Amino acid sequence: MEPAAGMVRPEVLKLSPYNSGLTIDEVVERYAPERVSKLGSNESPLGPSPKVAKALEGSSERARHYPDPASRRLRDTLATRFGVVRGQVMVGNGSEELLSIIAQAVLRPGDRVVTLYPSFPLHEDYAVLMGANVDRVHVREDLMVDVDALVAAVSRPCRLLIFSNPMNPVGSWLGEDELAQVLAAADRDALIVVDEAYAEYASGGGYRSATELLRRSQSSWIVLRTFSKGYGLAGLRIGYGIFGNAALCTLLDRVRTPFNVNAFAQNAAVAAFGDDAHLAQVVRLAISERERVERLLSEAGFQVAASKGNFLFFSCGGNSVAFAEDLLRQGVIIKPWKQPGFENFARVSIGSVAENNHFMQTVEANSSRR
Ligand SMILES: *Cc1c(COP(=O)(O)O)cnc(C)c1O
Repeated sequence: MEPAAGMVRPEVLKLSPYNSGLTIDEVVERYAPERVSKLGSNESPLGPSPKVAKALEGSSERARHYPDPASRRLRDTLATRFGVVRGQVMVGNGSEELLSIIAQAVLRPGDRVVTLYPSFPLHEDYAVLMGANVDRVHVREDLMVDVDALVAAVSRPCRLLIFSNPMNPVGSWLGEDELAQVLAAADRDALIVVDEAYAEYASGGGYRSATELLRRSQSSWIVLRTFSKGYGLAGLRIGYGIFGNAALCTLLDRVRTPFNVNAFAQNAAVAAFGDDAHLAQVVRLAISERERVERLLSEAGFQVAASKGNFLFFSCGGNSVAFAEDLLRQGVIIKPWKQPGFENFARVSIGSVAENNHFMQTVEANSSRR
């Protein structure tokens, strides 16, 4: 074994590099396109609320001191909104950090973890890192969640049930009745984690947040949300978890680094959370543009999954890496999916009208060239 590989825990060797996609600068450096439309990471085309700029104005002086290690103001704001106490709210350096903390705190080697597939890679990676075994519940042929298979999988003993709803990368979702069925079937000893990174965008189609359904649950549960998507704060790294049980929150709190959320992110999140009108505008644009892009892709002959997120998952008719590279040359960044069985699929974020047009124009130009 090569020395570096011998140095790390064997679990590390099982991880794939995170497919984070290129930055705008990297694309400009590589291809010098006329313009770049970044549609690979589900960021908001409208960015954060103007109230965020106000909250951060002249605040560089704050960099001198450590931030509030308990993020009290933000957690109080969130607790009030969700009708829980501050002790049931944890904030993280992105909800990704919370995923990592949950895995570190809960998973023992050999534990069984149930998740949906294709998956949000971090739901699997942190579990693998801790030596757990991941049991993937594949979507159906029509790309909707296979509720029967999920119910069957979670009723067998498992330590952790973790999935996103709406689901990333596909965009499909569990409606209220389906979610209730899964939650009721789940092994009583399992921790249920519902990652609602896209909840702000999800309405209709029977969607309901797990925060409402889990309130009466006897199980241990955490619902994760983020400021990176609907609130447009991806660059600041801040997300949060609502816990069913303050005692579990207190225990997991021991695992995080003490000053995990920086002062700017804490202030920005409070400001962003207070601007419902901005969020409503973001959501309106995303939904109307998602419907338009979905129609255009279907008309162009692509299979597109129904989505409640600010993104679409579609079959590009061939290897998605080559497909995405063609788009990249013309300045459009999308995410080719690389998980086995889905290599012909790509995920595109819903951007501004101009960005979405740029995407569709390059797709159409490439299909006519083929
Ligand atoms: C984007 C995303 C996250 C990451 O959120 P951060 O708060 O930026 O770390 C978590 N879960 C899912 C399913 C996501 O799509």
